[in-house]
Amino acid sequence: MKRYVLNDLKKDTKKHFGCDVPVEKRLTNMLFAGGCLVCIVCVIGAAIVGMPIEAILICLSLAVYIGLMFYISNKVENPELFNQLALIIINFVFFPAIFLTTGGVYGGIVSYFIFGIIFSFLLFKGFICFLVVVAELVFYSALIYASYEWPQIVLDINSRSYTYFLSSTTVVIVALATGLLVRLLTTQYRREKRKIDKAVKELEELSTKDPLTGVYNRRYMLDFLQTNINRAYNYGAQLSVVMFDIDKFKSLNDDFGHLVGDEILLNLCDLVGTQIRTSDMLSRYGGEEFVAVFPNTSAEVAYRRAEEIRKIVEETSLSDSVNRPITISGGVAEYVKGMSVEEIIGAADKNLYVAKNTGRNKICIGNDETWE
Ligand code: GH3
Ligand code: MG
Ligand code: MG
Repeated sequence: MKRYVLNDLKKDTKKHFGCDVPVEKRLTNMLFAGGCLVCIVCVIGAAIVGMPIEAILICLSLAVYIGLMFYISNKVENPELFNQLALIIINFVFFPAIFLTTGGVYGGIVSYFIFGIIFSFLLFKGFICFLVVVAELVFYSALIYASYEWPQIVLDINSRSYTYFLSSTTVVIVALATGLLVRLLTTQYRREKRKIDKAVKELEELSTKDPLTGVYNRRYMLDFLQTNINRAYNYGAQLSVVMFDIDKFKSLNDDFGHLVGDEILLNLCDLVGTQIRTSDMLSRYGGEEFVAVFPNTSAEVAYRRAEEIRKIVEETSLSDSVNRPITISGGVAEYVKGMSVEEIIGAADKNLYVAKNTGRNKICIGNDETWE
């Protein structure tokens, strides 16, 4: 069966969404672009209804600003910092400017200050968050006070154009804020997900693999074997197990040291790993004992595979420090209906014992059969 790989996923995304940009990025881009468009319409509309030049300038600068955000946010390395800077400019430049051009304390923009503070809580953390929020509270209070005390600093916009300006800036601010929020949440989500995926992968490795050799550990092999025994029991599939053991490994350790011993174990596993199919599995059963499970395989075929492995091991140098051949012995067992995990492993172990007692560097299968 063809494997579904990352490239296919990208192709599918492109097919469904018309481009290979992630959906949430497109959503943010759409919101920014929408905001920018509304600003431009706003400038034209404001000029037609004869709004004060200040209001037109604010719309224009908002359009330029959103356009810049739209452009930069697709390029930045650190979107979180970008969002924070964007919010500071909105809260300390655009909100106050719009506030002063739409009736000050009597205008609707005063309620936007609350959004500004809520977004500050979302985007900043710890002491910086505290500082930003306090600065905003002080600044907004001063603005409200000033617009109340000195009404001449507030532009007196007539009611028709005022409503028009207020509703269009609302659209822009909401688009801008939603864009920022979407980007912030998705960035955080992705970062957390990456961390969790990594941790899960590490845990999986730790719980299923042997740290020295990188092959599966005994517990995972027993689970794998049980699953395959169930399949063999239910569907009558063949199943074989081979237990390998390095010959005279103790004397290798004694003569060349434990580090060389470890190197041999690692290289042996790498070598055996290249000799088995991806559907087979190799595990470290104990110190220098390994169990290979061969699903859908008869004892005869498993025996032949084990023999090939034994020969290759004998012919390969598993360590530069060792100047004599390193050999392995093995015992094969085939699943017979009704056998348990312990029984099939026990049968392989028994045959390994025979191989050890009849000269080593050989594979035994029991019942005096060798198919040689
Ligand atoms: P036989 O041919 O009968 O299997 O003899 P042997 O010397 O291989 O068997 P024995 O069971 O007496 O020795 C196994 C040795 O494997 C003893 C132990 O120190 C060594 N061993 C077990 N685990 C490790 C390991 O992780 N690293 C190293 N370097 N040695 C290990
Ligand atoms: Mg041994
Ligand atoms: Mg042993």
